Amino acid sequence: MCLFYIIWHSPFVSEQRLEDSAATIDRYGERLKVNLESNSTGENLTERERDQLLMAIEERIVGFLYQIPDYSYISSLETYLQYRPKLLEQFPSAVPLEKDNFTITSNYGIRVHPITRKEKKHYGIDLATTPGKKVYASASGTILDILYSKKGYGTHIIIKHRFGFETLYGHLNKVLVRKGQTVDQHEIIGMVGNTGNSTGYHLHYEILKNQVKIDPLASFDLKKKIYDELFMGNLETEGEK
Ligand SMILES: [Zn+2]
Repeated sequence: MCLFYIIWHSPFVSEQRLEDSAATIDRYGERLKVNLESNSTGENLTERERDQLLMAIEERIVGFLYQIPDYSYISSLETYLQYRPKLLEQFPSAVPLEKDNFTITSNYGIRVHPITRKEKKHYGIDLATTPGKKVYASASGTILDILYSKKGYGTHIIIKHRFGFETLYGHLNKVLVRKGQTVDQHEIIGMVGNTGNSTGYHLHYEILKNQVKIDPLASFDLKKKIYDELFMGNLETEGEK
């Protein structure tokens, strides 16, 4: 029992264990889908079964969200997230700028640095836009740090979110929050700038998961994707929004 607790709550779990969890959650998802199809005939029994299913997987999902190393495992949660879309507000699931108001100029991964000309790993995504555009928190959380540097990320904000996620917003012109403040998802935290090691107005955006910098790209459309599926009319959420 004790060992089980340690394994389940440790953020460092084996890939096999994660695959197993993902497979279990997939099976629950399938059962939810089957339940929904029979539910369209309006039987109360299946409704009750669905609630039981959701309760049974609730804790499992929360544990899974803490353990996953990156977004590649999120797809097994999609059916479930349609029932608990509020979870999407608690971890990075949206673009930190206004939609269609930016261009991705540099992705996560190895690149030739625009200033040093050396090959180096880029730990975030660069979103180029015009000066003074608003920067939004990509999830609810607490402002962990605000740093004013002349080098590197320049003026930047770090937010701590639930499930072991953190986000970093670099090269800002203006900071509109203070350290320790809690923010909602989509709340304005600052303005796009060109501070630090930067060759033009852009936001350098990073996601850290369990202290490791991961590719943020898959998070950008996540919330939109789940809500699109919700509004397709395939599902009823009853009290959830
Ligand atoms: Zn960058």
